[in-house]
Amino acid sequence: MYDLIIIRYGEMGLKGKNFSKFSQALKDDIRRRLAGLLEFKITSTYGRIFLDLNQPIAELPPEVVRTLQLLPGIASFSPAVTLKPSAEIDKLADIGSKLIESELNEGSLSFKVETNRANKDYPFSSPEVSKKTGGMIYQKINNLLEDKKQKLTVDVHSPDIQVEYDIRDSGIYVFYKRFSGSGGLPLGSAESALLLLSAGIDSPVAGWQMMRRGAQIKALHFHTPPYTGEKALEKVRDLSQKLARYNGSTELYICEITDIQRQIREHCHKDYSITILRRMMLRIATELAKKINAQALVTGDSLGQVASQTITNLRTISSVARLPILRPLLTWDKHDIIGMAKKIGTYEISIRPHQDCCSIFVPENPITKPRPRPTEKTEKALPIEELVQTALDEIEKEIITAK
Ligand code: ATP
Ligand code: MG
Repeated sequence: MYDLIIIRYGEMGLKGKNFSKFSQALKDDIRRRLAGLLEFKITSTYGRIFLDLNQPIAELPPEVVRTLQLLPGIASFSPAVTLKPSAEIDKLADIGSKLIESELNEGSLSFKVETNRANKDYPFSSPEVSKKTGGMIYQKINNLLEDKKQKLTVDVHSPDIQVEYDIRDSGIYVFYKRFSGSGGLPLGSAESALLLLSAGIDSPVAGWQMMRRGAQIKALHFHTPPYTGEKALEKVRDLSQKLARYNGSTELYICEITDIQRQIREHCHKDYSITILRRMMLRIATELAKKINAQALVTGDSLGQVASQTITNLRTISSVARLPILRPLLTWDKHDIIGMAKKIGTYEISIRPHQDCCSIFVPENPITKPRPRPTEKTEKALPIEELVQTALDEIEKEIITAK
């Protein structure tokens, strides 16, 4: 029955002169992500993008709904029926009734009609269209229900179903379902960033939040063989595959830091080992980012979550990076991070057991407020530049595609 999907975008509608760049990015992303799921032609009109379906469908396939709900830049979308710009009012009511019929099951239903008339040539005003079609739908459906105990009622405040008519020069669009999108800005509208991707719950969500604001990510994972095994790497590849669904094919860099961890344990004060390890990670990440043209680093840090995420620790860790460190989850509760991880499909992968590089050699009492000075002092025992260079030389790159 549906021959069109109406897509409403969020913030990019406020972009003024740059609007066409954002709109193009969104259309490109929609084409790329729905390829193979649906056949359509993209058109746009003021405030909306339309997907004209090559073949009418009874319902949106769940995979299409899921994809559009997580596609950065989309505020909401609706499957719709298209009528000619001059369609008669009873044709409008006909389609409205069909949509309501599809929702009729056991109980009674309440409804309301909303009309938006951008095409002022249409012979009736918005309130007139709502009133006339509302009356016809009411009659028609209640005639149908005559022998049953059900009834269709009108409720203008909180109806079960809201039938909407969008009357434009290009056509009249009839719909009642509105799926919410994730908002944000289209992918590729911001510069790319390098995500420090662990095998935990947080960093994949941090990566998704960056994509939601338009930044495509590249990922960097540190591992410590033989202490962290192939299982941990497999998790990171699986996480990257999930992220690639939103990010497009994704560069994953794998960096071995076994020697760095060993040297930290041997030469530095143990209370500072996590802070120093994080500083080494950021130094390596900064150098890699510069090489691969990423403009910022991204982590899944959340304030106060663990000892290495106090403000003092974040300060001491951040001071070595010569690129901005973006922490989209800084103020999120774990509960909310987990909720989002479930939505984007990374949670089940993240909770698979594995040995994390930071849980090896972890001190019993990591210091929660390591100030920069004493950290630098104990860190001086390391050949920092040499360690960074060796790690960089040995980084391996993989291209991960969506699954
Ligand atoms: P969780 O907290 O869910 O166990 P996490 O990924 O947040 O997972 P943390 O120990 O809290 O793990 O690390 C804070 C941040 O440091 C991570 O979000 C990630 O960005 C970065 N990080 C930690 N370990 C690694 C690693 N092995 N490789 C790459 N980045 C890492
Ligand atoms: Mg964390």
